[in-house]
Amino acid sequence: MIHRLIYPCEQAAKLSSRAMEQALTMPERVRLRLHLMMCERCTNFSRQIEFLRRASRKIPEVLENDAD
Ligand SMILES: [Zn+2]
Repeated sequence: MIHRLIYPCEQAAKLSSRAMEQALTMPERVRLRLHLMMCERCTNFSRQIEFLRRASRKIPEVLENDAD
């Protein structure tokens, strides 16, 4: 698998998870993006992470709206 030469999937998954909590450095983001361009599995994983992140951000909004 050519993408393994560029960036191991394990590392890409770690970065995707970490991106939920803190900003990645520019080289990290570039390398992660390069990996995602070539790896469908990690693309799906990062989409799930992104979905969870958006969902968890929406919860406080929903609660606030309910309180009104
Ligand atoms: Zn991968």
